[in-house]
Amino acid sequence: MAVTQAIPITRHPFANGSYKQMLIDGKWVDAASGKRFETRNPATGELLATVAEGDKEDIDRAVAAARRAFEGPWSKVKPFERQNLLLKLADLVEKNFDELSQLDTLDMGAPVSRTRAYHLRAVGMLRYYAGQTTAIHGETIENSLPGEIFSYTLKEPVGVVGAIIPWNGPLTATIWKIGPAIATGCTVVLKPAEEAPLTSLRIAELAMEAGVPAGVINVVPGYGETAGAALSSHHDVDKVAFTGSHVTGQAIIRASAGNLKRVSLELGGKSPDIVFADADLDAAVPGAAMAVFANSGQICSAGTRLFVEQSIYDEFVGRVAEFGRKLQVGNGLDPNTQIGPLVSEQQLERVTGYLDIGQKEGAKALAGGGRVTEGALAKGFFVQPTVFANVQDNMRIAQEEIFGPVISAIAFKDMDELIKRANATTFGLGSGLWTRDVSKAHKVAKSLRAGSVWVNCYQAMDPAVPFGGYKMSGYGRESGKQHVEEYLNVKAVWIKTG
Ligand code: NAP
Ligand code: MG
Repeated sequence: MAVTQAIPITRHPFANGSYKQMLIDGKWVDAASGKRFETRNPATGELLATVAEGDKEDIDRAVAAARRAFEGPWSKVKPFERQNLLLKLADLVEKNFDELSQLDTLDMGAPVSRTRAYHLRAVGMLRYYAGQTTAIHGETIENSLPGEIFSYTLKEPVGVVGAIIPWNGPLTATIWKIGPAIATGCTVVLKPAEEAPLTSLRIAELAMEAGVPAGVINVVPGYGETAGAALSSHHDVDKVAFTGSHVTGQAIIRASAGNLKRVSLELGGKSPDIVFADADLDAAVPGAAMAVFANSGQICSAGTRLFVEQSIYDEFVGRVAEFGRKLQVGNGLDPNTQIGPLVSEQQLERVTGYLDIGQKEGAKALAGGGRVTEGALAKGFFVQPTVFANVQDNMRIAQEEIFGPVISAIAFKDMDELIKRANATTFGLGSGLWTRDVSKAHKVAKSLRAGSVWVNCYQAMDPAVPFGGYKMSGYGRESGKQHVEEYLNVKAVWIKTG
């Protein structure tokens, strides 16, 4: 069900320039250091809020609160009650959905036309986890030992979870971490990205309103090198659930070694999207374009390596470029905007840097190729939707994650060779293919080494369907039954009955 309240509001109740504290043990508190940082609207540069800047001391306080909650009354809360909390939170997120989705728009730039479509990924996700809460169970297992000895398993919450998330979809990223924690009876210390911390704070406020007990959900905004590093190396954290870049993922693994905490990683990608000559091209053109341009390319599973069969390469890539040129780039609060800004100046520099690299490597920009420098948009971090043609497999723009609205279009002829080339990346998150041939679709879907394969569509997501990576795109799954398992330990119990 889509929520369709009139947009835009320009002054958001939670992003009106005021100061936001962090949530520890059910109380809104300042950073121990007293420090604050600013978060701004990347479309305009305007100040949205100053936010308490958490560091090691705050992480220590939050982890202690999460531990107390985990070992206290929360451990006695029955599945039905946790289910009820999730359902109440889902209702509150639904009631405040316009405000929350616009908060994402304000804090990280994605257009409301996109963030308002997150209803299923936010409200639906919470209701899905609510359903999972009462489905958690161990097994009785027949063993072959002599005599009478009975064996069964118990599923127990893993404990205190440190959740670290990026800025590219704060609403869904926050719910993806706290939903399974509440479902399983874990407690959480969440560190949102410093570029976009507001939605996580607002959801924590709603969780308190829903009746989630103090200490079960703590939110400590701050920087990765300080708060994030303290959380991932903390000896009293049982698991880190991380979403972000593979470089930070590697740092998280190293930091986790001290107490060998469990780690799940949702990392980046350089996903292939393959268009065969027999595809429905009228569907494939917008599909392949938006597989990258949506969210200004700031999606981990964006189909940025566009493989196109040689016989249709020029025509197809030309049409994708034309589609890209027509997209409306602008402030995300305008309901007509299709492409918002990049999240920050740093991302702008990174992406425009790759635009230069692509040109130097000999690729040809058929659309875009630069920053938007005219009019009001010059104040924000806007990049034109860009289509590079004549891209070769070994170019950096075909190998490295750009995280911007940039398509690298590559020609192919032979299918076996195509599969090898499509898999010739260190990543393995998303992948797509467009064809009318069912046998070909099955064959390619089975051959691609990626956690998701989308056939004649891209980026379909559902709370019940697992999402995650192969290779350097990480391990662990979010959504689906597997996600709940990531927050559970299995205990084997043996009872001698003879
Ligand atoms: P990032 O730099 O890795 O940051 C992600 C989070 O980690 C932020 O909260 C960041 O804090 C924190 N962090 C940074 N350094 C850290 C450290 N040493 N220890 C602990 N935490 C640390 O990623 P990003 O640039 O924000 O986000 C883009 C990346 O995320 C892309 O690679 C994208 O593909 C990936 N991503 C993956 C998925 C998925 O589900 N697979 C979804 C979305 C994004 P600060 O930012 O506050 O410094
Ligand atoms: Mg960052």
